Amino acid sequence: SDVRENLTYDRFGGAIRELAQTIADDGYEPDIVLSIARGGVFVAGGLAYALDCKNIHLVNVEFYTGIGTTLEMPVMLAPVPNAIDFSDKKVLIADDVADTGKTLKLVHDFCVDHVAEVRSAVIYEKSHSLVKCEYVWKRTDDWINFPWSVEKPVVRRSGQVLDA
Ligand code: 5GP
Repeated sequence: SDVRENLTYDRFGGAIRELAQTIADDGYEPDIVLSIARGGVFVAGGLAYALDCKNIHLVNVEFYTGIGTTLEMPVMLAPVPNAIDFSDKKVLIADDVADTGKTLKLVHDFCVDHVAEVRSAVIYEKSHSLVKCEYVWKRTDDWINFPWSVEKPVVRRSGQVLDA
């Protein structure tokens, strides 16, 4: 459908505090927040501050090529984090949305054999997601506009092209 869920930077601030509060109330105290770039970086930063966790890691996953268009399967891009670093650690995977859930499943499966415990937190989860995250701020089945990606990348205002 054409319906959009619009997350603004204003609403994001409250969302991340509420999501963090849910995690804290549940008694989960992660040693590491593992963000899935790029959208999960915003989520991981907010959660790590709110949960007073000083250790953030990052994994790059490529899946979506446009609105609703994806590669066959998500792939982790190099450099892949060393899962050995996570052994005996409580990990919180952070992403913006579990849509198909394939991205989160990839990262979750990567962690699960190596860590003490792994849980996932997302701002949004869609009902068809094959992964059910422990922590979800809001459920929707609409396409979400995130504040960091809704606008096109900026270009130089002075933009004069010089011949080589
Ligand atoms: P999944 O693997 O769960 O299908 O999708 C994971 C990634 O796809 C998300 O981290 C996000 O970058 C992108 N994505 C999926 N659904 C949406 C959406 O509704 N809006 C936006 N902006 N990105 C989405």
